[in-house]
Amino acid sequence: MAAESVDADVVIVGSGAGGGTLARALARSGLRILILERGGYLPREWGNWDPQAVFGAHRYHTGEQWLDGEGRPFSPVTGYHVGGNTKFYGAAVLRRRPSDFRPRHHVDGSTPAWPFGYDELAPYYARAEEWYFAHGEAGRDPTEGPREAYPYPPLAHEEEIALVESVLQGMGLHPFPLPLALHFLEGDPEHSPCVRCPTCDGFPCLLHAKGDAEICGIQPALESPDVRLLTGQRVRKILLHADGQTVEGVETDSARYRARLVVLAAGAVNSAALLLASASEPFPEGLANRSGQVGRNYMCHLNSACMALKPHQENRAIFQKTLALNDFYEESGDPEYPYPLGHIQGLGKVTPSLLHAQRPRWPVPVSAWAASHSVDWWLTTEDLPDPDNRVTLDRSGRIHLNWHPKNRESHERLCRRWRSILHQAGFPAVFFQAMDISATAHQVGTCRFGEDPRTSVLDPSCRAHDLGNLYVVDASFMPSISAVNPSLTIMANALRVGGYIERQLGAS
Ligand SMILES: Cc1cc2nc3c(=O)[nH]c(=O)nc-3n(C[C@H](O)[C@H](O)[C@H](O)COP(=O)(O)OP(=O)(O)OC[C@H]3O[C@@H](n4cnc5c(N)ncnc54)[C@H](O)[C@@H]3O)c2cc1C
Repeated sequence: MAAESVDADVVIVGSGAGGGTLARALARSGLRILILERGGYLPREWGNWDPQAVFGAHRYHTGEQWLDGEGRPFSPVTGYHVGGNTKFYGAAVLRRRPSDFRPRHHVDGSTPAWPFGYDELAPYYARAEEWYFAHGEAGRDPTEGPREAYPYPPLAHEEEIALVESVLQGMGLHPFPLPLALHFLEGDPEHSPCVRCPTCDGFPCLLHAKGDAEICGIQPALESPDVRLLTGQRVRKILLHADGQTVEGVETDSARYRARLVVLAAGAVNSAALLLASASEPFPEGLANRSGQVGRNYMCHLNSACMALKPHQENRAIFQKTLALNDFYEESGDPEYPYPLGHIQGLGKVTPSLLHAQRPRWPVPVSAWAASHSVDWWLTTEDLPDPDNRVTLDRSGRIHLNWHPKNRESHERLCRRWRSILHQAGFPAVFFQAMDISATAHQVGTCRFGEDPRTSVLDPSCRAHDLGNLYVVDASFMPSISAVNPSLTIMANALRVGGYIERQLGAS
């Protein structure tokens, strides 16, 4: 398409981890970038830090309901704002392990190999860590790949967490500092934007001190005169060019935008939904869907929150999400169960008000006591791709999500193992709360990439096999999810894809 007849060289749909990072990556390329975001800026207000507003009333989540495989409505844990879901994320930014790029055998099946290995993504991980203020300590986690030092030192453990760390080490385990994307300046409290508050994990940051995609992607991108962001622009359809081989732009509720190249970054569920909603005669099953794979292979972590109580000792930690453990990441350690179990990391401190917001029926003194005596954790097991776990649309355009996670047994074993370790570590009471289908925070996989156009939607550069100028850079591209948090991989991949887009459009 001629450059002068378009609204932009590149239209990016969505401003989260993938879209926000890509916008910054392309900002100095000389290409004209237009970001279309369905939400607005997340308001800075006291509610950002109010557990009742965030977890009780779900003030910042979408009010829409999706339907599960049995047609039951549920409210997805997702929000539509500039910065996408990174506005709420716990800022845990782990690289995938080298083994995550290779097939891995699980109790319920195997993961597919990625088209490339850890080494290809490593330089992009490094740049994403720099952009997103990553704190961490290289060389502590035995499962990590080769890497240089983190841009920032790890956040120090508070007393209670340091104690847990030394007990775990005494048991022969290998806890390590959880890598975190926070604009925190150690030893410089006068100037540090991050104050290590208890309202981080799951909360928007009132101080704008979280390394999220608004602060670290969109904001720096908008410093370039070539980048524009339009909020309140929900893309409804991707427009196919008359040649049937390229797209010519997108349509929102109020306008059409033409571009030389379109990038989807609307999140794994919404990008798939958008492609399905963009069906036309040449693509009756959905745009870019000759493979029939669009919307399939939805994955989400098997997650449980865990509260470990020491009745006779208060936990005074304010910011406790500083420790992680991968001792059961590659395998369980039990010769009779030769499968991986998953990853364990600290959870943002469960405070009395937060617990009350989530468990309003508990008597206030009970939740207050439990929250002040607990150390809290987040356990993650890898899900597996299954074509029947998928996003579909009904006639009215509503999203249906069929999801029956794999590796449940491994997740239960991870919880049991962690409970017995915590018992030994002096926590006699340990409780778990498993997440259900509404916990869509770690959604991935609905437009997976690969070499074979029959089994994947995108090629290894994340360009649609079926269309020469349509890319996807959100979490959809992942053919396997791993057991670590997805954002850093989405950001690193967006940086990688930015290079392909620049080359394709002949950026200056
Ligand atoms: C409570 C919570 C905690 C989390 N903690 C962590 C963590 O600690 N570490 C980690 O790695 N990950 C974490 N995550 C997950 C992480 O936020 C996501 O993996 C990541 O944001 C996904 O990036 P994305 O680019 O795929 O989509 P998103 O970041 O969700 O961005 C998608 C964007 O597209 C916009 N959009 C959607 N549809 C349209 C449309 N039709 N038109 C225009 N715009 C559209 C959305 O509004 C949004 O801005 C957490 C998520 C949540 C909710």
